[in-house]
Amino acid sequence: MAEDCIFCRIIRGEIPSDTLHRDDEVIAIRDINPRAPTHALVIPLEHVTYLDTVSPEQETLLGHMLLVGKDVARSEGVLESGYRLSINQGPDSGQLVPHLHMHVLGGRGLGAEG
Ligand code: 5GP
Ligand code: ZN
Repeated sequence: MAEDCIFCRIIRGEIPSDTLHRDDEVIAIRDINPRAPTHALVIPLEHVTYLDTVSPEQETLLGHMLLVGKDVARSEGVLESGYRLSINQGPDSGQLVPHLHMHVLGGRGLGAEG
């Protein structure tokens, strides 16, 4: 846990969020600034800063994030229409929050660039 990390604060319940799912490893919340009708974030409870800093021992965490993303897509009703799971890494990606997270986007045509 990082003291002033915004996602760690959400996980600790210090900042409210619209929670879609929570288990021993991850939380899924609605994005506060949605860029699509469905826009959720799947966030590890443990503070991992970047995809680049994920260790080989955390390989199963990444798989779990993908499966939770798929479950969120199902519960949001976009399983059939389609959705995108994406992780931003580094300045060119536009990553703003330095706590690993995966976007779940759907509910509109996302195009090639999304
Ligand atoms: P990034 O660009 O780092 O991949 O995405 C960070 C995402 O976190 C953005 O889509 C932004 O809207 C979302 N976000 C930032 N602060 C908060 C917050 O306090 N609550 C929620 N629910 N989402 C947030
Ligand atoms: Zn954090």
